[in-house]
Amino acid sequence: MGMFERDTDIYKDRDALREDYQPEELVGRDDELRAYQTALQPVVNGEQPNNIFLYGKTGVGKTAATNYLLSHLKEDVKQYEDIDFDLVFFNCDGLTSSYQIATRLVNELRDDSNQISTTGYPRSSVYEMLWEELDDVGGTILIVLDEIDHVKDDSILYQLPRARANENLTKAKTGIIGISNDFSFRDDLSPKVKSSLCEQEIHFPAYDAGDLQQILTERADVAFYNGVLDDAVIPLCAAYGAKDAGDARQSIDLLMKAGDLARDGDTEIVVEKHVERGRRDLERGRIEEGINGLTQHGHLVLYALLTLDLENETPVRSRDVRPRYTRFVERAGRDPLVPRRMRDHLSELAMLGLISVTERNEGRRGGTYREYNLDMNASLILNALDDILENVGIHESVNQYFNADDEFEEEPALSDFS
Ligand code: ADP
Ligand code: MG
Repeated sequence: MGMFERDTDIYKDRDALREDYQPEELVGRDDELRAYQTALQPVVNGEQPNNIFLYGKTGVGKTAATNYLLSHLKEDVKQYEDIDFDLVFFNCDGLTSSYQIATRLVNELRDDSNQISTTGYPRSSVYEMLWEELDDVGGTILIVLDEIDHVKDDSILYQLPRARANENLTKAKTGIIGISNDFSFRDDLSPKVKSSLCEQEIHFPAYDAGDLQQILTERADVAFYNGVLDDAVIPLCAAYGAKDAGDARQSIDLLMKAGDLARDGDTEIVVEKHVERGRRDLERGRIEEGINGLTQHGHLVLYALLTLDLENETPVRSRDVRPRYTRFVERAGRDPLVPRRMRDHLSELAMLGLISVTERNEGRRGGTYREYNLDMNASLILNALDDILENVGIHESVNQYFNADDEFEEEPALSDFS
């Protein structure tokens, strides 16, 4: 027998659970798909396409629905000889300016031997090149900008929809499909961009547990052998998915994690405990990733809030986090940030989902204030804060988390903390 042997018990096709898998059919998105299809209809009619704007949280099927409809569209327009249809589709992750989007578009439209450098041209000449390339291609061109919220200035979002009206384009009929995970992106657009880019808006709401069950059931049929999943597995993954964010991606990841744990554990069926453990593993990964991306002050603010939480002092206002934060900063040999900057760190922690924030009214005088609460399992956070624990020391409120053989054991407990 060789060293490696193929696993054959659990997965029929594990790749069907991966990010890049395109499902044949989408479930639970009938209304959105219908609206989206209607918005695309002008392409088939040979008319100037609509600009379409899709928005909704991550994992609610925006990219999947776009791939699905556009692959049908590409097929179906072939029967009309008078339609010359082209598609440019990319993700804007890593592209932060209109300039970068424009150079990327030029390069998508040109062939490999004729690419332009992504720096060094004046913006206006990149736009000139873009108009030229688009008119060269001619016909109907749909431009899909996925995760468009990465783009921080809206020049291109203004220029592209108006290119024909401004006579920059004469042959090409372009339509833009902008996709955003970020709700505030649309609201922050200038009115003139909003009115053209968001001509047709389609909102993708979060999935509920029932939707997620359907999605998971369909996907599991492709990915797993018959009878491998215990009956409780899919409902549990769906329930967690609905509770977290209504995110299909997260639920599918959880199902895959559970399958992997079963496979690694050499069992033949996937059961509830694999889901539970999988969820803990995934959550730990997310927390670590979030915390690792923070600066030291972010870590100190989080540590301060964590210790207050363990002393039942939460929810707590920013000004009441401050004394503890300041002491921690001093112990770490740094200077405290001004209150405002410290509060920015609280907001960032909230954005990452590590802590929660509630807006409260001050009473009859008016005015509002914010209260912060810890949202995550304390021991997971402590694990990811180990560098800070070494610098600041172990606050007495977290002593309970460190047992005798822990590496922090020799550190003195800091009972002099207030
Ligand atoms: P978004 O683009 O909104 O962040 P995606 O389209 O990438 O979300 O969807 C996330 C994952 O969930 C993908 O793997 C996708 O195939 C799957 N998915 C989302 N919605 C559905 C659905 N309605 N039916 C089947 N699979 C879905
Ligand atoms: Mg997407």
